[in-house]
Parts: sequence; structure tokens; C-alpha cells
Amino acid sequence: MPSAPKWLFDAVDLLISKLPMVAITDVELLSPSLKKIRFEGDFKKLNFPVGSYIDFRVNETDVRRYTVSHFDLAQGFLETIVHLHGEGTGRQFMDRLNIGDTISMNKPRGERNYYNSTAEQFVIFGDETSLGLACSFQPVLKRNKKQFQYYLELDEENQLIPEKLGLEHCNVFPKNGLFQNENWLEKLPIFQTAAWQDANFVLTGNAKSAQTFRKVIKQKTKAKSYLHGYWLEGKKGL
Ligand SMILES: Cc1cc2nc3c(=O)[nH]c(=O)nc-3n(C[C@H](O)[C@H](O)[C@H](O)COP(=O)(O)OP(=O)(O)OC[C@H]3O[C@@H](n4cnc5c(N)ncnc54)[C@H](O)[C@@H]3O)c2cc1C
Repeated sequence: MPSAPKWLFDAVDLLISKLPMVAITDVELLSPSLKKIRFEGDFKKLNFPVGSYIDFRVNETDVRRYTVSHFDLAQGFLETIVHLHGEGTGRQFMDRLNIGDTISMNKPRGERNYYNSTAEQFVIFGDETSLGLACSFQPVLKRNKKQFQYYLELDEENQLIPEKLGLEHCNVFPKNGLFQNENWLEKLPIFQTAAWQDANFVLTGNAKSAQTFRKVIKQKTKAKSYLHGYWLEGKKGL
């Protein structure tokens, strides 16, 4: 529920247990449109499965979701990577956060389906909003010796960011509608070989791109796909 009356979110805030004093201890502008934010607090009793996200109450009537890209329980911090785009309430809230600020935060929530431990190969698709997910996936995939590839559609100014974040096996594409073009998608090397027929596809980012990708995956392979659009053109929150 990205938007609701103030009284409703106030009531929810009273009912759910929150993390009361979380401090912003580091902020890094990875590019003019990507901001990495470190939150420090007592996260010891929490779990962070791959793709865990936090519902931030960004003003009295809006909540926006951001993925935990990295966490360190021993040192007591977690990080998110925020795509600063447009003038939405999520962007404005994240833009304002600075070192020294404290906030009251909802606990992270997990998505059980992102990491299927029985799969041997993973293809992870998304855009700037999925970089946090990509970062949360990689250590788990490497630790468990899985094969993986990232397919990322990124604005030009962000095309070197996956490398900067240490992401491996990245296929980076311009964000110009290619992933909404079925004919182009069908020709991707991944569909031209039998080697990735049984991969698990995790499709996030722009909902329209993710849906088109899933359609082609279904036509061309027997692979399992898991779709979670992170934003949809013209729709506030998701
Ligand atoms: C489970 C989950 C995890 C997510 N994790 C992250 C994350 O780690 N980092 C992150 O940056 N985002 C993440 N998102 C996406 C983020 O919640 C949305 O982008 C959200 O819409 C941003 O809110 P806003 O108030 O800035 O814009 P809104 O008010 O929600 O949207 C305003 C307009 O901008 C469009 N829009 C929204 N996002 C984008 C975008 N990225 N690019 C272009 N147009 C856009 C909308 O369609 C709408 O027309 C996640 C979403 C989900 C569901």
C-alpha cells in the first residue's frame, strides 16, 4: 500500500514494532542519480534473506520500498542504493537524508522466492532500482558456487556503476526500450544456447521491461522466472 490516509499509517505505526533510533552514518553519491546510504542501528535480531526490503514512511501519507543491498550484523549497519529520479516523495525523502540524521525505521521484510537454493544458474534482470538486489544476491550466489549473470538496463551515467559495486558477470544495456522489444530479446545469447535453459530468472526494475522479458523466457525456454516489478510508468509506488 504505497499511499494511505495519515490516520491509517499512524495506526499501523502503533501496531508494528519499529526500529526506533537508526542513524545515517555514511552517504555516497555513486553517480548524480544513484545514492548509497548506510543506516546504523541494532539489527542483531533480524534476518536479511536475499532481496529484503524496507518500507520507508517517506511522509505522512506515503510509503516507498527500498532493498537492503548489504548488511553487517557485527558492525550494526545496513545499506540501500537509491535511484534518484523525478520528484516523487520517495526520491525527495532519500535525497534529504544526510550523515548525522536519525530516523525511526520499519523492520526489513523478506522475499522468500528470490533465491531458490535448488537452482544452479541464475539470471537477474533489472535497472538502477535493482542494483541493491544485485548486490544482495552476489555473495550468496558465490558462496554457494552458483552460475549467474546480470542483465541490466541503465542510463548512460550509470553504466560503469555495476563494476564500481563489484558486480560480476554483468551484461549492461542502454535504457532505450530494448527490453520491451520481443524480437530483440529473442536474439539474446542466453536464448541461443541450451546451457541456460534451466536457469532461474529473477526479473525486477521497470515492470513493463520485466513482463516482456518474462514473455520471451516462456516462449524460448523451460526456465522458471520470478517477476517483481519495482516501478510502473505513471504509477506512484508499487
Ligand atoms: C520490493 C521493492 C524493492 C525496491 N527496491 C528499490 C531500491 O533498492 N532502490 C530504488 O531506487 N528503488 C527501489 N524500488 C523502487 C521504488 O520503490 C520506486 O521507484 C518508487 O516508485 C520510488 O518512489 P518515488 O516516490 O520516488 O516515485 P513515485 O511517486 O512512486 O513515482 C513517480 C513517477 O515516477 C515513476 N518512477 C518511479 N520509479 C522510477 C524509476 N526508478 N525510474 C523512472 N521512473 C520511475 C513512476 O512510474 C511515476 O510515474 C523498489 C520497489 C520494490 C517494490
